[in-house]
Amino acid sequence: MTTLYCACCGRPFKRTSNRGPAPLYCSRDCRLQIAARRRAWGPVDWGLPAATAQALMAVRQPADRLAKSA
Ligand SMILES: [Zn+2]
Repeated sequence: MTTLYCACCGRPFKRTSNRGPAPLYCSRDCRLQIAARRRAWGPVDWGLPAATAQALMAVRQPADRLAKSA
């Protein structure tokens, strides 16, 4: 059996079946949580923690304004 790491909470988990693509999440809860985040964030890199993604967006917005006025 292969040990995988959850793309949501980062916990290691065992892959239970070798058929199909490798699962990204340790549980259905984590998969649903990511789906909800993707809906809320749109095209933002949802692999980052929410606080990090929001900080990146906060930095990016003033930079865009500067670029336009320059
Ligand atoms: Zn998880």
